[in-house]
Amino acid sequence: MEIIDNMRKKVRDATLSALKASSDLIEISKINMAINSEEQKIKSLMFEMGREVYESYKQGEAVDAELAEMCEEIARAEMDIEDMKLKILEIKNLKRCSGCSAEIDEDYAYCPKCGKKVETEKVNRDEEEEESETASDYEDEDDAEDEMDNDTEEDDE
Ligand SMILES: [Zn+2]
Repeated sequence: MEIIDNMRKKVRDATLSALKASSDLIEISKINMAINSEEQKIKSLMFEMGREVYESYKQGEAVDAELAEMCEEIARAEMDIEDMKLKILEIKNLKRCSGCSAEIDEDYAYCPKCGKKVETEKVNRDEEEEESETASDYEDEDDAEDEMDNDTEEDDE
C-alpha cells in the first residue's frame, strides 16, 4: 500500500509542478508583454524627441553641437532619398509637379491635375548646385576656352 501511496504522491506532485510551471510561464509571458509595451513607449518617445530636435534644427534654432551633427546627417540622408526618388521618376519618364506633387509625364509643360506650370525639381536642384560651385572652377574653364580661342585666332592669322 505504501508503494501505491508513494506513486500517487509522485503523480500528484508531478501534476502540481507541471501546473505551477505552466502558470509561471503564463506569468512570465505576461510580464514580457508588459516589458515590450514599455519598450515600445520608450522607443516612440525617443523618436518624438529626435523629431523635435530635428524640427528645431531645420527652423534654424540653436541645437547642441553633437545633435546638430546628427541633424546634418539626417538632412543629407533626406536629400539622398529625394535624389533617388527623382532617379526613379527619371527612369519611369515621369517628373513631379512642384504644385501638387503629382507624378506626371516628362513631356507635360503644365500639370494636368493642378494646372501649374511644371519645372522639374531635378533641373532646379542642378542649377542650385552649379551656383554653389566655387568660382575658381569657372575661371579654370574660362581660361581653357580662352586659350582655345587664342589658338584658333593665331591659326587664322
Ligand atoms: Zn500639379
